[in-house]
Amino acid sequence: MLGAIIGDIIGSRFEFSAPPRKDFKLFTEDAECGFTDDTICTVAIADAILKNIPYQESLLNWCRKYPNPIGGYGVGFNDWINEKNPQPYNSFGNGSAMRVSAIGWLFNDYHDILQQAKLSAECTHNHPEGIKGAQCVATLIYWLRTCRITKDEVEHAVKKNFGYEIPPLKDIYKIGSEGHFDGICQETVPWAIRCFLESQNFEDAIRIAVLADGDTDTKADITGAIAEAFYEIPDTMIEKTFSYLPKDMLAVIDQFFERFSTDNR
Ligand SMILES: [Mg+2]
Repeated sequence: MLGAIIGDIIGSRFEFSAPPRKDFKLFTEDAECGFTDDTICTVAIADAILKNIPYQESLLNWCRKYPNPIGGYGVGFNDWINEKNPQPYNSFGNGSAMRVSAIGWLFNDYHDILQQAKLSAECTHNHPEGIKGAQCVATLIYWLRTCRITKDEVEHAVKKNFGYEIPPLKDIYKIGSEGHFDGICQETVPWAIRCFLESQNFEDAIRIAVLADGDTDTKADITGAIAEAFYEIPDTMIEKTFSYLPKDMLAVIDQFFERFSTDNR
């Protein structure tokens, strides 16, 4: 979950601006660098589990509390937040996959994880691809953190269980360099998995994802979510990330780690 938030903040300033250079700074002090909708929704999903309330209720609470994040919300999601009686809108945007990470940590059974990921997605992203994107990311986190599969087995396991073909990095970079914006689960999820597979450590994974351009914050969010389940995150990156977050989000992160350590004692 923290990996997702770190990726979101690092990717934030490149989502709608010039492509990143190879030696880009991870964090900057300007107004474009900060948490976006990815972090708000990630915190909302974690908070729903911690408080035992419906995912929809928590998403609405958090997103209404933070109505104008950097980069804004997607159009369909923004309408959903502001509806009196919000209904799912058959989305397969990458929003279901970018917010799901806490489920991969706070549930310890494969079937529970599939079920919870589905529930977290379908209040908005009830298209089969929207649900699948969330299920794949949560499952991959669970598999990697519990060493059920090795990094070498990821590509085969993802294809077998979720049907995603993971394209080579050079193809992803080529499409990104042409200005393509990967806003849907079917692109961002397999692309983020490739960014993780090519990486040597956590920071490297985030850098590879941001350099792929397109939807940089969400690609780095999903890559970071997966990478966190496999690598140690450097303390300096965690400390810097915390400096961008408001107290209410930090409190949820605290409770998340407390719950995880109690459940896995
Ligand atoms: Mg975003």
